[in-house]
Amino acid sequence: MRAIRRFTVRTVLPAPLAPLDTLARNLRWSWHPATRAVLADVDPALWDAVRGDPVAFLGALTRERLEALAADERFVARVRAAAADLAAYRHEPRWYQRQAGGPLPGSVAYFSPEFGLAAALPQYSGGLGILAGDHLKSASDLGVPLVGVGLLYRSGYFRQALDRDGWQTETYPVLDPDDLPLTLLREDDGTPAAVRLALPGARTLDAQVWVAQVGRVPLLMLDSDVPANDDAGRRVTDRLYGGGGEHRLQQELLLGVGGVRALRAWSRLTGAPAPDVFHTNEGHAGFLGVERMRELVADGADVPTALEVVRATTVFTTHTPVPAGIDRFEATVVGRYVDALVEHDDLPTADVLALGAEDHEGGDPLTFNMAVMGLRLAARANGVSHLHGRVSREMFAPLWPGFDAAEVPIGSVTNGVHAPTWVAPELTELAAGRMSAQELATGTGWTSRQGVTDEQLWDVRGWLRGRLVADARDRVRASWRHRGAADVELGWTDDVLSPDVLTIGFARRVPTYKRLTLMLADPDRFRSLLLHPDHPVQVVVAGKAHPDDAPGKKLIAELVAFADQHDVRHRIVFLPDYDMRMASTLYPGCDLWLNNPLRPLEACGTSGMKVALNGGLNLSVLDGWWDEWYDGENGWVIPTADGVDDPVARDAFEATALYDVLEHHVVPRFYDRDERGVPRRWLAMVRHTLATLGPKVQATRMVADYVAHLYVPAASAGADLRADDLAGARALAAWKARVRAAWPAVHVDHVDSGGVEGAAQVGDRLHVQAWVGLGDLTPDDVEVQVVHGPVGADDELTSFTADALAVTDAFEAGRYAYAGEVELAATGAFGYTVRVVPRHPSLTSPAELGLVAAAG
Ligand SMILES: *Cc1c(COP(=O)(O)O)cnc(C)c1O
Repeated sequence: MRAIRRFTVRTVLPAPLAPLDTLARNLRWSWHPATRAVLADVDPALWDAVRGDPVAFLGALTRERLEALAADERFVARVRAAAADLAAYRHEPRWYQRQAGGPLPGSVAYFSPEFGLAAALPQYSGGLGILAGDHLKSASDLGVPLVGVGLLYRSGYFRQALDRDGWQTETYPVLDPDDLPLTLLREDDGTPAAVRLALPGARTLDAQVWVAQVGRVPLLMLDSDVPANDDAGRRVTDRLYGGGGEHRLQQELLLGVGGVRALRAWSRLTGAPAPDVFHTNEGHAGFLGVERMRELVADGADVPTALEVVRATTVFTTHTPVPAGIDRFEATVVGRYVDALVEHDDLPTADVLALGAEDHEGGDPLTFNMAVMGLRLAARANGVSHLHGRVSREMFAPLWPGFDAAEVPIGSVTNGVHAPTWVAPELTELAAGRMSAQELATGTGWTSRQGVTDEQLWDVRGWLRGRLVADARDRVRASWRHRGAADVELGWTDDVLSPDVLTIGFARRVPTYKRLTLMLADPDRFRSLLLHPDHPVQVVVAGKAHPDDAPGKKLIAELVAFADQHDVRHRIVFLPDYDMRMASTLYPGCDLWLNNPLRPLEACGTSGMKVALNGGLNLSVLDGWWDEWYDGENGWVIPTADGVDDPVARDAFEATALYDVLEHHVVPRFYDRDERGVPRRWLAMVRHTLATLGPKVQATRMVADYVAHLYVPAASAGADLRADDLAGARALAAWKARVRAAWPAVHVDHVDSGGVEGAAQVGDRLHVQAWVGLGDLTPDDVEVQVVHGPVGADDELTSFTADALAVTDAFEAGRYAYAGEVELAATGAFGYTVRVVPRHPSLTSPAELGLVAAAG
């Protein structure tokens, strides 16, 4: 029989234990072992049974247990102390508040389609979401005033299992928000706060707003499963990356537009200040800029002025170097939704559609592109590693015609990971007991011999490997039961993997570019590495393929088919249902983390960072973060066959290189032991990794970079443009309009140079003169630049510097003479040219308007 209504019946905590509820509902427990210890001690057996889900845990406690504890004065004092510690953490000044000159200006709204905060809140599919979760936690640790904005998906991402034949199957368990560490945002009269969007056809979409508290940082999650909606409306937030087309578009409108409205409700109900800066983690939340323009226009601003305010205060982080990874919608469909959205405002739909138009070379005029809109609505944009920044500049260069890819205004901030979440507490304890806080923070403690000894480090590493082996055995057994095996057939699973064998991990989502099965390219050679009589390796593999990704699922089936073979099944396992819980055992337990994407398609990658923080070594293609921070001592590189177009030949080459590095470098070093069985040379690499990568790969470093290079400049640009009733924004918009209108008349008439006769020498100075026509513009509006550097065979500048020339003379009809000098700094072929670009103190790049007039 089906119940017609469902209630969650809660245990009422006795008054002395009431703070337990606060401790369970603030996700800080997920990275604070001391808080977890207090919760676990309430009922250790039950805590283990709920596998680290404090809300479910408190809900399941018996009244007898609670009454006994409430009478235990020592325990009550511990609970009170833990609550006081959390309160201090939430309110005391931290890094951000201690910056020179006092707290920096501004607060930040951080939008993301997914957040990976804890296994107990499964609202993520992979790296993008985990990064967003780590961003919130690190912002909290640093005291950065940040608010997260996302969606609450009723089924989150899918749960993965294997069928008898080794194919991935998906299930979508429905979550009950009342069982999650969430609180509903309510009006003062207790009714749920509602966010409403107008949809085409006079429909509306309502959402309620759940709040997760992440240390100091609130995360607002919109949920459309409310009675006010029709069935289709209720399903908008059903699954993460579930549907395509219009379903996806509705999710993104709810996230962007609804997210801004949720923030407004949050400010109204809690008194929190309105955010000064809006950061969109990937393009999915891009409609937030449209909503902010709509608000400004409704308040009386004209469209170009509104655009300038929004651009100045928006940060866009792009995450994919794969064009197929970008959201694109039919422009006519987007037009219908925008019509409904702006119906009562003076924001023309055509202006919104123009923001996402692929009107560049190679674009599709019928498509609305979320990344294009993201870049046009954000004056500050970045990729997620150095290499990815460069790849993004090339990929988006057609949006800035006339400029070199190097000048495309997309920078980079390399991702990081939240160490307190990802480092095994056992390793943290070992370090904390033997290093000063300073030595820990700078990493130097790992290389000083007074600190942790090799033996101690090796003991902990062995313990972590052993824990992974035990967990893998449980998971393999459970998976085989699910696949239909009887217990009597499963005795062999007791001996799957060995606690002493070199353990390689490979876990990630399974898009084809990550090449899950590269290790199988030469099955015989791979088998001989696994089965080596003295120096074997063992491999733990995990990963989910997107439900619609048939090629990805096929890769999983191939891997499983290999791992099912009787001769190797004790040395290679596929663990279904990769998630944060599995990851917390897997990363610390691996000796080596394997990463073999098709370069340069891995924008950053973060799992290898988490392994490094736990004293594992990386073996990776030089892609993403590894391209930046591999230093020859902290792991190994898989050489790549960049530029080889035949994918089969490329895979074969790179797989052979992978086996070679394993066989000749990794394996011998791991098994090179002294008389006490300790691999000194391996541990030297581990120490070097912990000491040098440790500080760099942390998300606190990443968030501090965002604060310094993006948030603070955006907040102060926004303040400038908003002052005096948007006077600065109006002036900037008017200036841009005037420059665009006048630009067709801007040209370089003539260029001359002297001062270098015949064969030039290093140190010679070249005098450059240029005569330009500026039409209706003045020298204040432009910069005339000499662009110079080494030249290649076709006279193209292979790299260049742009130096401003100074105006020396003015003539009739807007014509001017300019001059300047260039020092010839290096030997070899040299060349230069002269160009005119717009100039204004509010531009973040000379390429911003996409206007340039070049000589010749
Ligand atoms: C870190 C993490 C990822 C992302 O790993 P990549 O190396 O970026 O692919 C995916 N899933 C989980 C559960 C993670 O913890």
